[in-house]
Amino acid sequence: MAKNLQAVRGMRDILPEQSPSWQYIESCARELFNSYGYNELRTPIIESTELFKRGIGDATDIVEKEMYTFEDRNGDSLTLRPEGTAGCVRAAMQHGLLHNQQQRIWYIAPMFRHERPQKGRYRGFYQAGIETYGIATPDIDAEVIAIGARLWKKLGLKNVHLEINSLGSNQAREAYREVLIEYFSQHQDQLDDDSSRRLHQNPLRILDTKNPKMQDLVENAPDLLDYLDDESKEHFAGLKQRLDAIGIAYTVNSRLVRGLDYYNRTVFEWITSELGSQGTICAGGRYDNLVTKLGGKETPACGFGIGIDRLQLLLEEQNLAIPDHSPHLYFVMLGEKAEVAGLNMAEKLRERFPQLRLMANQGSGSFKAQLKRADKSTAGYALILGENELENQHVIIKPLRQDTQEITQQISIALDKLNDYVANTILV
Ligand code: ATP
Ligand code: MG
Repeated sequence: MAKNLQAVRGMRDILPEQSPSWQYIESCARELFNSYGYNELRTPIIESTELFKRGIGDATDIVEKEMYTFEDRNGDSLTLRPEGTAGCVRAAMQHGLLHNQQQRIWYIAPMFRHERPQKGRYRGFYQAGIETYGIATPDIDAEVIAIGARLWKKLGLKNVHLEINSLGSNQAREAYREVLIEYFSQHQDQLDDDSSRRLHQNPLRILDTKNPKMQDLVENAPDLLDYLDDESKEHFAGLKQRLDAIGIAYTVNSRLVRGLDYYNRTVFEWITSELGSQGTICAGGRYDNLVTKLGGKETPACGFGIGIDRLQLLLEEQNLAIPDHSPHLYFVMLGEKAEVAGLNMAEKLRERFPQLRLMANQGSGSFKAQLKRADKSTAGYALILGENELENQHVIIKPLRQDTQEITQQISIALDKLNDYVANTILV
């Protein structure tokens, strides 16, 4: 195929055979978020570039080198959203959702970042996220974390562990920043290019480096938790107390700083060791400064983003069961009379049994050809209607798979018994 007719590098097609596990993850997430009283907020895929520059921060990986930014026909600079939080804050401000009230919202949406494609890292990927506004106390931090824990449980995921940290207040971070600049300046020869550039812009981000050669240096850096202000210490203790109370295990990782500038106090990541270096499946925290940064009134906020692509890989890795999408029945119809009568029967069955997955043969074909399609559909049974059966007002039910069968041989049943058979045998 001509090269320009391929998907853009790093962008994914989710093929029909993969989509059941995607749908499963998304419907579990949707149900769970709704059950905690969160509501969906859908925002546009495109926002003004300014929003992300101001929101995410100029000295972050995303804004520095990962955004898909372009000029539209009017010459306005627009960007495909690289993450969900900035757009949610923009929308919430624009529609007056933040004024003297609490909000709990969620989204499931595609994101775009121009990074090096590899397993678990794509240029177009999906995130499921929640955002809460107007709640300053650590109970909401604990709720946000608990929602993640419950989603893993619902999906049956194993070996996902939680790391938490506190970045403290702005002032505390400012003090720590000075200490860090001093420390890293003393070891300037060991800094890679990115880190040298960040030294004065955003030294905390050096702690987030993925460069293995710098791990020792980072290990020995002064500890953020030693510089926390009293209120943030109390907030952090409040969070830990609540996580303990609901039995969510965690490790405190004082090197966890997160790649986005807008966080303060609580930050956390859910990590698996089963996806190589793309092991973070969910990341989030508190971002009390973002609303004011975008021109709104001071508003406490806390949320997370889940990488659905990584979650899906992990589900596959752990061989977790997902709901069966296979048809219960594949309807084989032989001859034009049977096709017309069969269409009517099929619609009646669908009317009577909304949960029935019934795939009808279309495009005619020989008995052999239709049975072949039935097999390919992975249906449990073939429902067979020929001219003879039609005349006798019967239908044949033929088992197609060993694993789910109530019958081992095909049987013929009267048409007026079909509803009972579907209810008592096929759908149980
Ligand atoms: P990383 O350190 O892996 O680059 P990040 O800190 O950039 O992650 P966030 O911006 O916090 O990631 O996004 C939240 C989650 O979205 C990540 O934990 C990850 O699961 C997922 N994610 C981020 N970037 C990608 C990507 N390019 N492809 C697939 N999933 C991604
Ligand atoms: Mg990243």
